[in-house]
Amino acid sequence: MARIHNSLTDLIGDTPLVELHNYRRNHGLGARILVKIEYLNPAGSVKDRLAWALVQDAEERGLLTPGATLVDVTSGNTGIALAAIGAARGYRVKIYASDNISPDKFRLLEHYGAEVVKVDNAFFLDPEALEKITARIREENPDAVFTDQLANPANPEVHYRTTGPEIWEATGGVVDAFVAGVGTGGTISGVGRYLKERNPSVHLAIAEPAFASLPSEDNPHPPEIDGVHHVTEALPEQLPANFARDIVDEIVPLDPVEAAATARQLAREEGILAGTSAGAILFAATELARRPDFAGKTIVALLPDSGERYLNASTFRAAS
Ligand code: PMP
Repeated sequence: MARIHNSLTDLIGDTPLVELHNYRRNHGLGARILVKIEYLNPAGSVKDRLAWALVQDAEERGLLTPGATLVDVTSGNTGIALAAIGAARGYRVKIYASDNISPDKFRLLEHYGAEVVKVDNAFFLDPEALEKITARIREENPDAVFTDQLANPANPEVHYRTTGPEIWEATGGVVDAFVAGVGTGGTISGVGRYLKERNPSVHLAIAEPAFASLPSEDNPHPPEIDGVHHVTEALPEQLPANFARDIVDEIVPLDPVEAAATARQLAREEGILAGTSAGAILFAATELARRPDFAGKTIVALLPDSGERYLNASTFRAAS
């Protein structure tokens, strides 16, 4: 059988699920935790799935001619994935990103040849930030294709079509809980919908940065978790359109330093080098796994990206 792939895009998805045996033993957990290692996607994060889906969607709708520009707002990973796929397909990529994301991500974006517009992190404290950034992108880039990961239905749809079924098939349907974070909400909404359709009792949990850990006027630059947001106090209009809030059964708040510390434990106990949001998601999965009612159950935690992407990030450094 031929083993030659024709493009980077052929390598997206079908990521492995790995059971954390050492971690379970070391922490005395009653439940099994399986991690879905999304950093094994070819541009290094879960966002490869989404970026490829958005590009295919735009190609199918005839919006993309060779040399066209793709534009989006991202905490880095969608930008990196679009930049890689854009390079493979012959499109330019322009990215709007908060200036507080991990410096490693800016280096990666430049390395892939993307154009980067840094947005002051304080801008995102505005309750109307999502609406305003969307309007700004449309206005400044009238000729580009705005992939709009926050609202494009192709985002949750790709998780419904790929990530969810991969988890169901890999576990033979033995999955009692699924844990993710919410950036756009695409992962939890798409995977969650698929799993609940197969088994309505699957428990869906999300990890969020605790309210007290968020930037404020007194503390404008605290350690943060790239890519995931606090949703509990948010008004419905402040949440991304792609986040199906009603599908979530439980929200686990945590401090970003706990997220980074959990990522470090995963690296040291299992050799799995995951990013800060992955640490947050594993922290939340661990909270469930400690509960008596989860004894013997199977919890799937999705690890969005690799710790290599945060070696120069303040949150990772704050935990060591
Ligand atoms: N973790 C990281 C590192 C991310 O970049 C993102 C996306 N912003 C997420 C988690 C959340 O994924 P989703 O957008 O599917 O909610």
